[in-house]
Amino acid sequence: MHQLTLAEIARGLAEKKFSSEELTKVLLARIAQLDPQLNSFISLTEDLALTQAKAADARRANGESGALLGAPIAHKDLFCTQGIRTSCGSKMLDNFKAPYDATVVAKLAAAGAVTLGKTNMDEFAMGSANESSYYGAVKNPWNLDYVPGGSSGGSAAAVAARLLPAATGTDTGGSIRQPAALTNLTGLKPTYGRVSRWGMIAYASSLDQGGPLARTAEDCAILLQGMAGFDPQDSTSIDEPVPDYSASLNGSLQGLRIGVPKEYFSAGLDPRIADLIMASVEELKKLGAVVKEISLPNMQHAIPAYYVIAPAEASSNLSRFDGVRFGYRCEDPKNLEDLYKRSRGEGFGPEVQRRIMVGAYALSAGYYDAYYLKAQKIRRLIKNDFMAAFNEVDIILGPTTPNPAWKLGAKNSDPVAAYLEDVYTITANLAGLPGLSMPAGFVDGLPVGVQLLAPYFQEGRLLNVAHQYQLNTDWHTRTPTGF
Ligand code: GLN
Repeated sequence: MHQLTLAEIARGLAEKKFSSEELTKVLLARIAQLDPQLNSFISLTEDLALTQAKAADARRANGESGALLGAPIAHKDLFCTQGIRTSCGSKMLDNFKAPYDATVVAKLAAAGAVTLGKTNMDEFAMGSANESSYYGAVKNPWNLDYVPGGSSGGSAAAVAARLLPAATGTDTGGSIRQPAALTNLTGLKPTYGRVSRWGMIAYASSLDQGGPLARTAEDCAILLQGMAGFDPQDSTSIDEPVPDYSASLNGSLQGLRIGVPKEYFSAGLDPRIADLIMASVEELKKLGAVVKEISLPNMQHAIPAYYVIAPAEASSNLSRFDGVRFGYRCEDPKNLEDLYKRSRGEGFGPEVQRRIMVGAYALSAGYYDAYYLKAQKIRRLIKNDFMAAFNEVDIILGPTTPNPAWKLGAKNSDPVAAYLEDVYTITANLAGLPGLSMPAGFVDGLPVGVQLLAPYFQEGRLLNVAHQYQLNTDWHTRTPTGF
């Protein structure tokens, strides 16, 4: 039963082959048995899950239907869940029980999804390896000595190991697409504003976006359908109708114009990944796509711009964690200043502290123009590059990451080495564009992802291309040994 996709679960439930309660019990037992190897969950919500599963079964018995009704999922532990610990992977919020549900959590619950637990993540979503969590590193099910990617690494590892069919993630600079690539999943970062950020603990507000992680594009369509939509509680949510994503999967790719940016194939890319990317292009050509080389000339400036803007926003967002209102407070503060300093010094881990310092520096008087303002100008140039490219092509295709997963600890002493892993993903966040990563093969037994980018609100096009690719390839069906 644990091998079923969301689409297969929906069919099985509709045909009464099993109940949501039965399925939920099977998956909870599987998590209890296998998750100690992976560390992909921070909290399990067994009682909530069984209550929701029984309620979903009752709704089905009353004639209701729906692809998510009774479907087991998990949430990255930065989506607020009422009455349940929402830690953001940090000691700072280890004792924080959210007083309300995030919009995404509420919408999925209303659709009948069953929450099995809260997944592990890099502290405050800062990272690409899931090693900065207060709750310990997550292991990659494809090789337990390797990282699963981050920051949604717990969601990715759990879904890749068949502990559950799908989970939510968030993507500020690649945190859905990059762990999807490193664990052989399909992951989608929607257009900025497509999925509500209300109740999602903020890292960098102008970049953060929630989205689905699953094994197939078909399942990403189902989960995204439950997450997307206008939310008046989020001032950056966009009031644009949500199309039927599952209905978009079956379009023909005849004449689809794929742009492959020449800048993507520069020195930093593992040549074995380059070969797999070109093989995926050949596969899409067989389905009728036409391929064109394009240029994104400002791509080289993306990492420096992102690593100014994201920490700047983080330094502002994280100022609310002051030991007074939320979360961790130090023992026996001597005075107010001591309370602030020690609560933050003891509550935040080293990567979070590094980013707060970088961000506060970049925003400080005298440096704002040189760093933050400059980074914002680069951001506009990057967006302009994409707009020009999308005048010529329908989607942009390239690698999701320059390298496959790396060994646990391998990049810990060099944060910049980890930042460079984001080179292909962060441009979509800077421009606000939707992006998807899907399985495209293996290098030394480790999964490789191909990334597709589309114009604003064209999530359906991404899912369509990925689904057609998956109907003709079997990379996404490969299962890690032992799971
Ligand atoms: N790796 C990037 C960072 O550390 C992206 C993280 C994310 O998307 N949340 O900022």
